[in-house]
Amino acid sequence: TPATAWPVDADGNDLAFNATRAQEEKVSATFVMLARNRDVWGAVDSIRGLEDRFNRRYHYTWTFLNDEPFSEEFKRHTSAIASSKTQYGVVPKEQWGDQFPEWIDEKRANEAIAEMGKKNIPYGGSVPCASVPASFVFLAYVWSSLPALSLTGPSYLADRRMCRYQSGFFFRHELLAEYEFYWRVEPDVQFTCDITYDPFRRMKDEEKVYGWVVSLYEYQDTIPTLFKETKDFMKAHPEHVAEPNLMPWISNDKGETYNGCHFWSNFEIARLDFWQSDAYMAYFDHLDKSGGFFYERWGDAPVHSLAAALFLHPNQTIFLREIGYYHPGFSHCPLPKDGVRCACSTTTDDDPHPAFEFHGFSCTPAWKKITGDRAASPFAGAHG
Ligand code: GDP
Ligand code: MN
Repeated sequence: TPATAWPVDADGNDLAFNATRAQEEKVSATFVMLARNRDVWGAVDSIRGLEDRFNRRYHYTWTFLNDEPFSEEFKRHTSAIASSKTQYGVVPKEQWGDQFPEWIDEKRANEAIAEMGKKNIPYGGSVPCASVPASFVFLAYVWSSLPALSLTGPSYLADRRMCRYQSGFFFRHELLAEYEFYWRVEPDVQFTCDITYDPFRRMKDEEKVYGWVVSLYEYQDTIPTLFKETKDFMKAHPEHVAEPNLMPWISNDKGETYNGCHFWSNFEIARLDFWQSDAYMAYFDHLDKSGGFFYERWGDAPVHSLAAALFLHPNQTIFLREIGYYHPGFSHCPLPKDGVRCACSTTTDDDPHPAFEFHGFSCTPAWKKITGDRAASPFAGAHG
């Protein structure tokens, strides 16, 4: 049990939360949310949820990033609901890619974007960075759980800029320079259980680098050459590849082809220095130079996941099973023995946000098998 976990009774009443100790054991960490000014109310919903479930006890800083300056309104409403310091940053223009990088063939990029736009009409701009397998059943599953408004998502070019920024640049922002860990939060997500320990502290104590809650298969049409580029990179830079690694999780044929398994990166808790490392910086640069962020539609989810799978020891990734989470499309709901005061269910069929972990399109069972992850939470018992 991590130092900061505390017991609660069946009603979620704290039995021994120690506020002084929690503050003393805080890690150098911040939440990071990339958002537009018009995302303000979705941002407020997400902040409210995470504050109530976790941060009201810890007061970790909130960092907001935007490709435009944040409005006074955005700052006012988000800072009013955060229990901690808030800070607002603008993304440097050259990192957002307002101009295509000079090695990109603009004509080819524009054609690819138009083409992909046509193909993807059934699920529009709704799942741009972490998409879905080409299965009708699966699309219906996703489609039925997405809010209707998501159809009016950002333009395809804005999507690509955003995916590329989340893949290769957010961790270079000056506002993040002082931190060791970050927790990515998006507008319009929900945290469905009480979080009765500090995940940052746990990850630091257990020497974890990448924490996740949902994993699934990528839609191969968005990443036709991503794995080829990844293999080329590994061949050129064997020194960056961890041994052992999670290749068995991302490939069913010993690294020949990618099976699409990835962590759903709209939730992630990770070490900033992993992305800032020589290995990842070189990997991102290799991918970026190949143009796939523009010619295809590479998401930060498969890019982060391939890096975590190949440059980390499997034990450096952690399934944060106690954290209930919902982002339109899918949800992670802890088993009753792992979750505290959950507003989700793993056992009933009529939960509007059914747990995805046991769905056939989840890659989580395979991850557990490969890493030998325990079936039970280390906190079982601690929480009654
Ligand atoms: P999805 O989760 O893959 O469907 O992508 P989202 O539309 O939720 O976008 C992912 C994240 O990037 C969210 O935090 C959005 O608020 C943010 N985002 C997306 N597009 C833009 C953009 O054009 N500008 C800014 N500032 N943020 C964006
Ligand atoms: Mn999202």
